[in-house]
Amino acid sequence: MDTRFFVIWMEEITAAVRAGRDHLTRLDAAIGDADHGTNLDRGFAAVAEALAARPPDTPGGVLVLAGSTLIRKVGGASGPLYGTAFREMGKALGDAADVSAADLASALEAGVAGVRRLGGAEEGDKTMVDALAPAARAMARGVGGGGDPEVAFAAAAAAAEEGAKATVPLVARKGRASYLGARSTGHEDPGAASTALIVGALRAVAARRSPRPKSRP
Ligand code: ADP
Ligand code: MG
Repeated sequence: MDTRFFVIWMEEITAAVRAGRDHLTRLDAAIGDADHGTNLDRGFAAVAEALAARPPDTPGGVLVLAGSTLIRKVGGASGPLYGTAFREMGKALGDAADVSAADLASALEAGVAGVRRLGGAEEGDKTMVDALAPAARAMARGVGGGGDPEVAFAAAAAAAEEGAKATVPLVARKGRASYLGARSTGHEDPGAASTALIVGALRAVAARRSPRPKSRP
C-alpha cells in the first residue's frame, strides 16, 4: 500500500465522520457533552486540508500529519487520543514508500499502545480502546498466516463494530462518561463508535482497491 492508499483512507474517514457526525454527537449527548461528532468532523476536515496543502510522500508521513493535525485541531479528549494513535502508527511505518498489510497490522498495534499509554484505559473501561484493541488483534490474526489483506481488514472492521456494540452494557471508568458512574450503562460509547467508522473506512478503501468478481445469484 502506497502513500495514495493512505491519503484515500483519510479521505474516506473524513466522509464517514461527516456522514456519522450527528449520530456520534447524539451518542455523546447521552453520556458526555454532545460534541464528539463535531469534534471529529472539524478534526478530519482539517486533516484533509493539511494533506492537500502539504502532501506527504510516504504512508508514515500521511499518518503523522493526520495525527498532528488532530492533536492541534480537536479540543476534546478524542483529539490527543486519536492524534497519538495516528502518529504512533505513522512512526511505526517509518520512511517506507510502500507498506505491507503486516506492517499496517503492527502499526495499528503501536497506535493502540499509544492510546493506552496516554489515556490509561484498558479494555472494558467503555472507551475507544474497546473497539481499537479487538480491531488490532483481528488484523494481526488476519495477516498472520499470509492471508488476503482485504479479508484481514474486513475482520478488523467487524471486530471494531462488535467491540463498539459491546460497550453498551458497560459502566464507563475513563473519560467524561465515567463521571456518570452506573448511569453510563445502556449507551454505546461514542469513541468506540467512531473507531468502528475509522476501521470501516480502511475496509472500504481496501475493498475498492482489489475488486474481486462478485458471485452472481
Ligand atoms: P470529550 O470527552 O473531551 O468531550 P470527545 O467527546 O471528543 O471528547 O471524545 C469522547 C470519547 O473519547 C469517549 O467516548 C471515549 O471513547 C474516548 N476517551 C475519553 N477518555 C479516554 C481515555 N482515557 N482513554 C481512551 N479513550 C478515551
Ligand atoms: Mg464529548
